[in-house]
Amino acid sequence: MAQQRPSSEPPLSDRLLRSWLRCRRKGWLDRHGHPADRQWNPHRALQLADREARLQALVSLPLDQATGIAALQAGAPEVRLLLLRRGSLRGRPTLLLRTNESSLLGGFSYQPALLQPGRHGTREHRLTLSYWSLLLEPLLGECPSQGLLINPRGQRERVRLGGNLPRQRDQALTRLQQDLRRQEPPPLTQDRRKCALCSWRSGCDAVAEEQGELSQVSGIGAKRQEMLQELGIANRAALAASAPAWLVQQLEKQGEQRPELALELIAQARVQESGRAEALNDEPADPLPELQQAQGVLLYDIESDPDARDDFLHGFVPLRRCSNGRFEPAETARYLPLLALKDHGEARLWQRLKRLLAAHPGWPVLHYGETEVIALRRLAERQGDQPPQGLIDLHRRVRQHWRLPVSSYGLKAVASWRGFHWSQPAAEGARCVLWWRQWRAQQQRHLLQEIFRYNRDDCLATWAVAQWLSNSAASGSESSRPAMDA
Ligand code: SF4
Repeated sequence: MAQQRPSSEPPLSDRLLRSWLRCRRKGWLDRHGHPADRQWNPHRALQLADREARLQALVSLPLDQATGIAALQAGAPEVRLLLLRRGSLRGRPTLLLRTNESSLLGGFSYQPALLQPGRHGTREHRLTLSYWSLLLEPLLGECPSQGLLINPRGQRERVRLGGNLPRQRDQALTRLQQDLRRQEPPPLTQDRRKCALCSWRSGCDAVAEEQGELSQVSGIGAKRQEMLQELGIANRAALAASAPAWLVQQLEKQGEQRPELALELIAQARVQESGRAEALNDEPADPLPELQQAQGVLLYDIESDPDARDDFLHGFVPLRRCSNGRFEPAETARYLPLLALKDHGEARLWQRLKRLLAAHPGWPVLHYGETEVIALRRLAERQGDQPPQGLIDLHRRVRQHWRLPVSSYGLKAVASWRGFHWSQPAAEGARCVLWWRQWRAQQQRHLLQEIFRYNRDDCLATWAVAQWLSNSAASGSESSRPAMDA
């Protein structure tokens, strides 16, 4: 068992334990962070909605008969989200499933079940089951010997709750308590991919930037960060100052398959340290020659629900070339959203897409990243047709021509660096997915408007980057900000 805590300390909970298992700093911030620094996170809202939908599918009883301690004592086949207490520990097992073993309750007992969000169970999931079994012990007379992990497809994995697991759980609880007593938060997690799902992200991003963390360098994930730290390179400044030949040699010794990557990482760190973009080609060539003679350009962006593999919106902003030779201003151009409604079928969507593209013959289609081209290719294949021509992946062109002072080459980071602002606060794809799922459930028009606004902004952001890219060639390889208008 975790060591006794002074009675003045607030209780520990399963939620806190799970936060801490994901990232020690997150556990600390959940307890001590300033509420104003905590941002609403759409990923959490999506997870809760998903959990509720899965619970409804799994629980056979009406809600009131599967909830509360009375349901447990009456031997209900499933009990959902029951609050359990044991001393200073709290927890709410997602689901308790009745078993035929005897317990203090009578001729039946319960085992905890966790609805894992992904396909595979993790250490966090197993320790959480173990924590729930600890909370159940006073009610049942002993800890359940098994728990269940249920994946999104409904497949069940039995987890033995004996062996080393209780010891690992108790060690985790002791270390969690120690961390919570610290005056300062633990360091940022090495694996910054986890931060995308975290409500403390913006504060941690600022800390990472201020400290010049290696994780802020585009191209450096948890493994590379660890490798560089083992070589004595503690931060971005140290990486920028590293000797290229030495680092190539060191990466080779460490078994890195592409040791020449060292040159790219050093160059990227230097650009980020200086804050100045760097042209990759000595001879400035136009990165977007297709736009020179075009009568117009189509800005294109897809919104997808990745879990459902559903590309639910194809959004376009057509920009006509005016008589003065410039493209019309994107801010006042029409926005053309094509919703991919399952009821209408894919054939109809494909015909609408083809009609829209045919109405703008020869116009380049600008998009950012691979999503759009892959989605159109697959759609065309399923319809036994040819994929459309003229698509230009702006992300690729940026990477071919420039090294930028950004920690990511995604649209949000690059367009924000160019000074573009999304009109919705904290705009991100997960929020759009949430709106989409809510709209499908409730059919409220304002949710659709939010989705369109977000998608249109992505199109305009793409254009902001495209304009900069075109202007950068026209103004040579200098990196100061050119005018945003075309
Ligand atoms: S943003 Fe990242 S480093 Fe910060 S608390 Fe969350 S997971 Fe940890």
